[in-house]
Amino acid sequence: MPNVSKVLIVGGGIGGLALSIGLRRAGIDVEIAEIKRQWTVYHVGIIAQSNLVRAMVSLGIADDCVAAGFPYQGLRFCDANGNVMNETPGMKLAGPNYPAFLGLTRPALHDVLFAASKKAGAQLHLGVSVAELRQSESDVAVRFTDGSAREYDLVVGGDGVHSQLRTMLFGDHLQPRFTGEGVWRYNVPRRHFDDLILGLEMDLTGARYRTFEDLAVYCYRVAGAIGLISIEVFGYRNPCARDYAVNLGIALQLVNILRDIQSDARRGRIYLPEEDLERFGVRPDELRAGERSDAFIELMQFECDRARSYFDQARRMLAFEDRRSMVAAEIMAAIYWRLLGAIRQRGYNVLGERVRLSRPLKFWIALAVYLGWDWRSSAAEAPPEGERVRRG
Ligand SMILES: Cc1cc2nc3c(=O)[nH]c(=O)nc-3n(C[C@H](O)[C@H](O)[C@H](O)COP(=O)(O)OP(=O)(O)OC[C@H]3O[C@@H](n4cnc5c(N)ncnc54)[C@H](O)[C@@H]3O)c2cc1C
Repeated sequence: MPNVSKVLIVGGGIGGLALSIGLRRAGIDVEIAEIKRQWTVYHVGIIAQSNLVRAMVSLGIADDCVAAGFPYQGLRFCDANGNVMNETPGMKLAGPNYPAFLGLTRPALHDVLFAASKKAGAQLHLGVSVAELRQSESDVAVRFTDGSAREYDLVVGGDGVHSQLRTMLFGDHLQPRFTGEGVWRYNVPRRHFDDLILGLEMDLTGARYRTFEDLAVYCYRVAGAIGLISIEVFGYRNPCARDYAVNLGIALQLVNILRDIQSDARRGRIYLPEEDLERFGVRPDELRAGERSDAFIELMQFECDRARSYFDQARRMLAFEDRRSMVAAEIMAAIYWRLLGAIRQRGYNVLGERVRLSRPLKFWIALAVYLGWDWRSSAAEAPPEGERVRRG
């Protein structure tokens, strides 16, 4: 581009920022006009194929991108048992020192591109766009939405699929058409899935739990981790939502364990900590046989109180601003809280017929929570008639 020494790029996305780095490397003055007021990017991931990795190398950002992402060499397809059915190795187009593929979160790629563009000397203007363009023999005169005006040798439209610049230049008949395909994507920390798998493995080996601390690890993995995954999808503003998710997950899992105590015991699974059984004098074979002794009722009373304390902690951790986005979790909380109340109302007798809530009741609970009802004000708070007060 011998006659080009000053370029305006409209849009600071992947294309605009990458172009700015390349132009600066060629010694050309670059300005970027980005309509967003902050350098943020929609928070999902991107896969860099080998040709993109090669482009990263030529822009001098490949090392930073690799450090910020997850390099991999190919694709492997497995069946449900983990047996490899097919492998597709990638091509190392960027040379032996770089991976064939690179997975990156969008914010990570954006940070690398933004830092490299700035370091290369591009001028970045936030919160502005082009209001008017006038092309002459010698240059392009641009008036910006903030009232300023400047001339450039070249203006590049990098303002995305719904480009306003394209409409300004070519009219609105060149618009993208919706194909009918939609995508929802979320970034969820991988460790939550790893924890979940570890928890499921504990079930496979029929693990027994010596103390409540041991059982809490299991509950965290199989239920707290699901809560942590779910809130990334629901969305939250207050970081306390993570404590809410973990405490609620443990509370729900404890209710599950208490409700299914006998059926689980018959399948060889006793989740209640051994130290609790010993303390209250309940033998595992009594659980299998469904023997309802005073000791068993006292044990149940103790475990229900423990579950209740996790509901309490969860409730305290839910910030007002996140109550709406957590409505699905709150519906679960309300249903399980009611289930805990039903166990209590039965005098803690979970042996024999399974404690359950009717579908219409679950429906009404869900509707009430959706309309803003505070589930903590309901059943489980009220002690049943003749509740035993002795504690083990
Ligand atoms: C669900 C999904 C998954 C994808 N996965 C991959 C993948 O795995 N690998 C891959 O290589 N590609 C992937 N893509 C494609 C990739 O995201 C796009 O090719 C890329 O984002 C295009 O970059 P861009 O800079 O042209 O546009 P964008 O990234 O959309 O950037 C446009 C920028 O212009 C700004 N802007 C908009 N209007 C104006 C205006 N009037 N004035 C000033 N600024 C403005 C915007 O705020 C934005 O910053 C995916 C796309 C989608 C939708």
